[in-house]
Amino acid sequence: MVRFRAAEEGGMDRLKEAAEIIRKSGNMIALTGAGVSVESGIPDFRSAGGLWDKFDPAIYASIQSFNSRPERVWDMIFEMIELTAAAKPNNAHYALAELESMKLLKALITQNIDNLHQEAGSRNVIEYHGNTSRLECLNCGNKYEAADFDISGKIIPRCRSCGTILKPAVIFFGEMIPHDALQQSALYAGKADVVLVAGTSAVVYPAAAIPQQAKRNGAKIIEFNIEETELTRRGTDILILGSAGKTLPQLVELLK
Ligand code: NAD
Repeated sequence: MVRFRAAEEGGMDRLKEAAEIIRKSGNMIALTGAGVSVESGIPDFRSAGGLWDKFDPAIYASIQSFNSRPERVWDMIFEMIELTAAAKPNNAHYALAELESMKLLKALITQNIDNLHQEAGSRNVIEYHGNTSRLECLNCGNKYEAADFDISGKIIPRCRSCGTILKPAVIFFGEMIPHDALQQSALYAGKADVVLVAGTSAVVYPAAAIPQQAKRNGAKIIEFNIEETELTRRGTDILILGSAGKTLPQLVELLK
């Protein structure tokens, strides 16, 4: 495994090596996590002073909590929706969208729920954990746009048919990954020859298994993170250390 820190001497050689691998690839995919949105102002699970310092995800992001005390969980959801609705894509999101328009990236699997890849122009996005911009009724299955409710007024939205408190269409801990997302990701991972893994601690399963599945089929794993992760030790071929908002655009420049 080769390591690279953007500012280190010789680091650009590692990025060039990654670019060479990508140039020869025919089926590159990407897996992203909360780290790519940190530079857009959305904290990951580790950021100090962020949303997750205030609301323990083990409590507030579990389906058991939502089912038993939805009003309390909505305290967190109001802030989460406001935070993601106000955020704008950063250079990491734009770089990944550019890789797709350069026809190098075939699919982008994201664990993020903030819609920022789509806003940056990525088209083939597999939402593994859903999206905060939509709401759903767990009782009758109706679906709504969050923008159609008074989220900033902190009025808990209810289903217009049955009156049940709505849930954001995101996957809480304890919920199943949407069937389509699972199936599509497995298909892409099965034929991928390169996987870019950006801004994820790679500990939340089953998403963390995607690069491992691709690796078993011979794919190269190129990881972008500010630190080593579980994946670094288990499967990464090239680790590019540095903020994704800097390193991913550097990669795109090399590929032009
Ligand atoms: P995580 O918080 O566990 O890990 C984030 C990773 O990103 C860490 O390894 C960290 O070192 C790295 N990182 C932080 N800043 C970075 C930067 N500027 N550039 C590159 N890497 C950076 O997040 P996860 O692995 O995505 O998994 C946790 C779960 O959290 C996911 O299920 C996701 O749905 C949810 N989540 C999503 C958002 C979002 O939508 N933006 C935010 C918080 C949590």
